[in-house]
Amino acid sequence: TTQAESYEFQVETRQLLQLMINSIYSDKDLFLRELISNASDALDKLRLERFNDDKLDVDTSDLHIRIALDAQERTLTLSDNGIGMSRDEVVDLIGKIANSGTAEFMRQMKETQREDADTEELIGRFGVGFYSSFMVADRVTLVTRRAGQTEATRWESQGEATYTLEPLDDAPQGTSITLHLKPADPEDRLFDYTDPRKVREIVTRYSDFITWPIRMESLQVPVTEEGEEPAVPELETVNSRKALWTRPASEVTEEEYAELYKRISHDWNDPLETIRLNIEGTLQYQALLFLPERATANLFSPDAKHGVQLYVNRVFVMDDCEELVPAYLRFVKGVVDSQDLALNVSREILQQDRQIESMRKRLTKRVLQAIKGLAANEAEKYAKFWDEFGRVVKEGLLQDFANRDAILEISSFETTTELADDAKRTSLRAYVERMKEGQDKIFFLTGDSRAAIENSPYMEAFRAKELEVLLLTDPIDEVWVDGIPEFDGKQFQSIAKGDIELDETQENEREERKEQFAGLLTWMGEVLTEDVKEVRLSNRLTTSPACVVSDAGDATPTLVNLYKAMGQ
Ligand code: ADP
Ligand code: MG
Repeated sequence: TTQAESYEFQVETRQLLQLMINSIYSDKDLFLRELISNASDALDKLRLERFNDDKLDVDTSDLHIRIALDAQERTLTLSDNGIGMSRDEVVDLIGKIANSGTAEFMRQMKETQREDADTEELIGRFGVGFYSSFMVADRVTLVTRRAGQTEATRWESQGEATYTLEPLDDAPQGTSITLHLKPADPEDRLFDYTDPRKVREIVTRYSDFITWPIRMESLQVPVTEEGEEPAVPELETVNSRKALWTRPASEVTEEEYAELYKRISHDWNDPLETIRLNIEGTLQYQALLFLPERATANLFSPDAKHGVQLYVNRVFVMDDCEELVPAYLRFVKGVVDSQDLALNVSREILQQDRQIESMRKRLTKRVLQAIKGLAANEAEKYAKFWDEFGRVVKEGLLQDFANRDAILEISSFETTTELADDAKRTSLRAYVERMKEGQDKIFFLTGDSRAAIENSPYMEAFRAKELEVLLLTDPIDEVWVDGIPEFDGKQFQSIAKGDIELDETQENEREERKEQFAGLLTWMGEVLTEDVKEVRLSNRLTTSPACVVSDAGDATPTLVNLYKAMGQ
């Protein structure tokens, strides 16, 4: 009966298959992601074709993906009623290495001549489309009928040098792929892809946001009465299909956002703020970003993962995509779904990709804007946010030149002035607005704590003159404040450094007093010659007799301590 004819694979395809068959790659689950994404594409294509050609004789009323498991036969079958393939298409698309991701994978393989261990790494990064089935199956059967055609094709291969093709005349429209699974490893139950729980888990991990329903038999075995035929378990949809970012904002509830946030962040609390982005144009992507309410414990550990989840057309591609979020916004959680990247995109590609860079810039701007919005309109939320993440955001003052002003604008600091509404901190903008007539600098003092700074003798003259001083208590403040010349045209001036001229009249007074005390100053300078550079009259003290100051260019005491703490 066999009309099946045998064909040889392309050399490159054969090499790739060899790799898959011998793969010791640990994340074999990826094969399912690849097959589901192909099925989803096939359904998209059919819908589009039907839309463009209403005479096309196909039923599009129940487009879906179905996964059936057979533990006895050890098979996993994935079917879709999508566009299907003609015989020629099967030869072209399945028999040859068609897609760019796989081709790129092969190119890198050749280039680097890597050993097995690195092959593994490459597979993880690229994925390899349809062929990844051979990581878990020793025989794959594909039956497909193209929409609008009557003849179907059966393709089969054991992943070696050849495949067979056979025409069929009674196949449902669409594609059905049966994996004859390799023998289960008795040592490792995790690799049993006939376990419905395992398969469901993979589906929800990678394909939860696929638009089309993915159906499997219910885990609930129906109860049957004595003497009755055993009932067939019902089919149920296992993916949530809730790609919230693709729905109009007006149709998504706060609860739905919170639910998604909790799932991707593993946080028990609701998000503090939800940020939506929908970019159309040469680059097309959507993003759903969240500001958490609380910082995680590892926010300052150097190897902590950060970044958002990256999807390509609703298919999960990677977690912790750092390339999309700068380090100083590492607390941001969320999802970015691109329509332009390849599903097989690698980290290396991401690092060099100009699209990714443009996306990161856009996302960064949007997050800073959202924080600004909180500061302007939701003081309480903003204060909460700044308590948790202000220290991290300020790292951006050192890392992100382009957004420096935007970051200064959303930063806030403790201050000596009593603020309205019991506010804990002031923005720089508000400080500048309160500046006294003739004041042209933003005064600050750094220190370990508010109390320590307030009790500092440097403070006395400023208190007496009612000049506002910002109290900078984060170690990071020491660092950025040294490198940033000004805000809104006003210089930052440490009140612990150099000579500060508080006003003109004082200047004259000081000259007189200098003469008056010249003898004393010379004498003290000689006595303290080992300890200080210079002894001079101070105009910053009111009650303390003396204080030690550093030169304008010198490190402040806190910075000295910071360096000491870092072992320098
Ligand atoms: P990619 O999806 O990156 O193109 P794959 O190896 O996953 O690479 O698939 C190769 C091609 O085979 C697809 O581009 C598609 O044209 C075709 N194909 C695979 N699976 C299906 C399917 N279920 N229905 C229709 N066509 C399919
Ligand atoms: Mg694919």
